[in-house]
This record gives sequence, C-alpha cells and structure tokens, in this order.
Amino acid sequence: MSNAVRCHCQSCTIRGLMGPAVLITVGVLFLLHQLHGGYFDFGNTWPVILIVIGLLLLASAFAPRDGHIEAETSTAVPGVPPPPPASAPPPVSPAERQ
Ligand SMILES: [Zn+2]
Repeated sequence: MSNAVRCHCQSCTIRGLMGPAVLITVGVLFLLHQLHGGYFDFGNTWPVILIVIGLLLLASAFAPRDGHIEAETSTAVPGVPPPPPASAPPPVSPAERQ
C-alpha cells in the first residue's frame, strides 16, 4: 500500500471499486462458463468486463468531487531541494588528450 493520502470523495470511492468489481465480474463469468457453458462460454461473455469498467468510469465521472484531495504527483519531500540534473562530463583539456 502507498502512504499517499487517500481521497474519500464519491468519485474516487467509485473509482477505487474498479479492481474488486472487475475481479467479481471475471469470477461470475467463469462460474457461468463452468455451470452452463454454451452461450455463457467465457469467449462470449468477456465483453461484460468492458461494460462493467465503462459503467464504473461513467459513475465516477458523474459523481460529485466535493472534498476531493489531489493525489501527490511527485515524491519530493517539502523543504528538500531536488537533486541537480546529471551534467555532461567536463571537457577534456588539450594536455590530457596526448
Ligand atoms: Zn477524490
């Protein structure tokens, strides 16, 4: 788990359900495949996974974002300057070329 502050707005909560929802959907589809087969063969039903993902993304997009906490995009520690960028090696003087 990351130690980032977790947002609890409705939009982020719905988005956080994506993993469990996809796992449950895949499990149900495999169960249908095992119990019934035929039309419920996983080869026929896998698009349901895409539909579930799309519905969750839609619900997340339309859900209110009141109290949303923007995720940290950098790992910088406040007060500590970032390390300087790597520089090219110093030019070789004519005396060292010989
Ligand atoms: Zn949020």
